[in-house]
Amino acid sequence: MPAAPGGPRLLLRRLREAMAEPVSPQARLDRIVVVIAANVIAEVCSVYVLRDDNTLELFATEGLNREAVHLTRMRADEGLVGLIAQTAEPLSLSDAQTHPAFSYRPETGEEAYHAFLGVPLLRAGNTLGVLTVQNKTYRVYSDEEIEALQTTAMVLSEMIASGELQGLAPDAGTAARRAVNARGVVLADGIGLGHVVLHEPRIVVKTLIAENVEAEIARLEAAIEAVRSAIDDLVERGDKIGTGESREVLETVRMFAHDKGWLRRMREAVVSGLTAEAAVERVQSDNRARMMRQSDPYLRDRLHDLDDLANRLLRRLTGQEGAGAGAYLPDNAILVARSMGPAALLDYDPSRLRGVVLEEGGPTSHIAIVARALGIPAVGEVENATALCDSGDAIIVDGVSGEVQVRPGPEIEAAYAEMVRLRAKRQEQYRALRDVPAITRDGIRIGLHLNAGLLVDLGHLNETGAEGIGLFRTELQFMVAQRMPSAAEQQALYEAVFAATGDRPVTIRTLDIGGDKILPYMPKLEEENPALGWRAIRIGLDRPALLRVQLRALLRAAAGRPLKIMFPMVATVDEFVRAKAIVDREKAHLRRHGHPLPSDCRLGAMVEVPSLLFQIDEIAQVADFLSVGSNDLMQFLFAVDRENRRVADRFDPLCAAAIRAFRLIAERANAAGCPVTVCGEIGGRPLEAMALIGMGFRDLSMSPASIGPIKAMVLSLDARAIADVIDAEMARAHDGASIRPALAAFAKAHGIPV
Ligand code: PEP
Ligand code: MG
Repeated sequence: MPAAPGGPRLLLRRLREAMAEPVSPQARLDRIVVVIAANVIAEVCSVYVLRDDNTLELFATEGLNREAVHLTRMRADEGLVGLIAQTAEPLSLSDAQTHPAFSYRPETGEEAYHAFLGVPLLRAGNTLGVLTVQNKTYRVYSDEEIEALQTTAMVLSEMIASGELQGLAPDAGTAARRAVNARGVVLADGIGLGHVVLHEPRIVVKTLIAENVEAEIARLEAAIEAVRSAIDDLVERGDKIGTGESREVLETVRMFAHDKGWLRRMREAVVSGLTAEAAVERVQSDNRARMMRQSDPYLRDRLHDLDDLANRLLRRLTGQEGAGAGAYLPDNAILVARSMGPAALLDYDPSRLRGVVLEEGGPTSHIAIVARALGIPAVGEVENATALCDSGDAIIVDGVSGEVQVRPGPEIEAAYAEMVRLRAKRQEQYRALRDVPAITRDGIRIGLHLNAGLLVDLGHLNETGAEGIGLFRTELQFMVAQRMPSAAEQQALYEAVFAATGDRPVTIRTLDIGGDKILPYMPKLEEENPALGWRAIRIGLDRPALLRVQLRALLRAAAGRPLKIMFPMVATVDEFVRAKAIVDREKAHLRRHGHPLPSDCRLGAMVEVPSLLFQIDEIAQVADFLSVGSNDLMQFLFAVDRENRRVADRFDPLCAAAIRAFRLIAERANAAGCPVTVCGEIGGRPLEAMALIGMGFRDLSMSPASIGPIKAMVLSLDARAIADVIDAEMARAHDGASIRPALAAFAKAHGIPV
């Protein structure tokens, strides 16, 4: 086997010279294939680029028929080149023609060649094309040659990604810049058009080719050492103060930082002539390509950890710190991140944010709650979102369908712009309804209240004309904080809430933590079923200190004005009675110390654990009001995890069993004269809200964006008629089916906007 005359370093030096020549991109590419072929002593060297129509096109060749350049095109899964593009892995064959995937193209004159080596052109894990060399003999390519070709491929990938070759393919662009339509799940409603801002900007490696290999090895070693000791520090500190990144993750990262295979691959890449940072990026790109093709969630997570580690190394080597949260934002910014905490989102200037796209984050995640509060459209669970786009790319977040359009074509962009215009027009119509009382056509007044949890929510009160706040989720203050909010901080928030709401009623819910709502600064409990675990009022009763501090802050903030407090996750009447006793003790304490008390203090229970359905008369006797948490009630009634997308939509809250549950609550509460509200998500959906009114509910609490559509529905509804429809349907619903179709038909027939 002939050894390459100059080795990989000489090859890279030659490539650098070729890159620097002031010639056209095509001439440069033509020169590059000649340099590569000469260096690895191959008769053929070809570059195939993936185009936006998903074909692989021959862009340059040394050795094959030149006429075939920009003419030979194949499907992205065709032939050996397609196989490499698909697998994102190198392929080395001593006799290519006997490989089952070999596809013969007569125009190229390939029949003379036997040995074949191809490597993918990768960037951030995406395949941009394929680089191949061929020989007439049946030779075997050495590991060094494969490595050298991969290193070279990286230089070519940068050329493609930079858009330099964009104009070369007739009638189409390269796939590196193609439009992508990705799918996720809706986190926050709305449509946003703008440009990508990476929450953790990709580190730009500017110098790819090493001047001095020994010096680069030393830089790489030093950076690895520094990152290792930083991780050791983190692990140690985490032990002492129990904060920050969880120990398990850090331990994994530490393990990777000592992974011999990973370190060896980076060193080899430097030896082949790359700078230390380019070597890290090359190995990271291979890793990302694996990650994208990995369907096992555990292995994907591990590859993500490795990716994080590579980022740490890159940051150290390039001196680029992540711009991160709070960074300067251009207008119309759409944040793209793998994951992001609610506090990080709040650090950005919301007036410039048009949307958020996350690789993680389900609909009930904290970031989703904050995005909704800020009115920023958001889509989560978008696979590989951060690898799909580059900073500054045009992007559309469709928080209605859950789609994300990266680099959309002009038709798509125009269609969305039109949709945004229509939505704005509809919003204007809703705004016109702001001061119109929500009264049905047959004269029944429906109370429309807001769900809130952050100060930014309070502005929506005046904007929407809501009657008050039906659910204030106090845990949000705790969830977005870096440490446990002090009594004074809690009191200050509640004072601000009362100042903003004035005379309008506010129902404050005590801390609903545990389950999916984890506080980063509280020790994490390992529970098999956290949704059924130690959470909400259970923590409040077992460890009353936390609850007492909160109740005292509430009672003091509401001095001289009415206060409504409700308890989450009440499962038995006894729990409510015990919580009430704690409130009474706090009141007595404040009275003793001469503090003014609320003018009126009412205590309510959330109905969200099904056991309360069987104590509904008793709870309606002892509580001053009830509030139906339909999100949890449906979760527990049907035993469907509200976080688990596979089952979350399995049962319709308008099926017979659910309707019986809702009706039972409304009828018994009304009969006992106990006010009842629905504050789960269904109260904010017009068709469901219409059904709830038909079942006897008169107060609904919802997110700000729902007030307009729900009021429009109420204004055109006859409450008696819908009650009759539900009665008739329930009398017939022997199979327990959903009555949604009947309700939809009713709405349509009566022109009710749902
Ligand atoms: C509910 O469970 O319906 C509810 C309103 O509370 P949360 O969504 O905060 O659990
Ligand atoms: Mg709940």
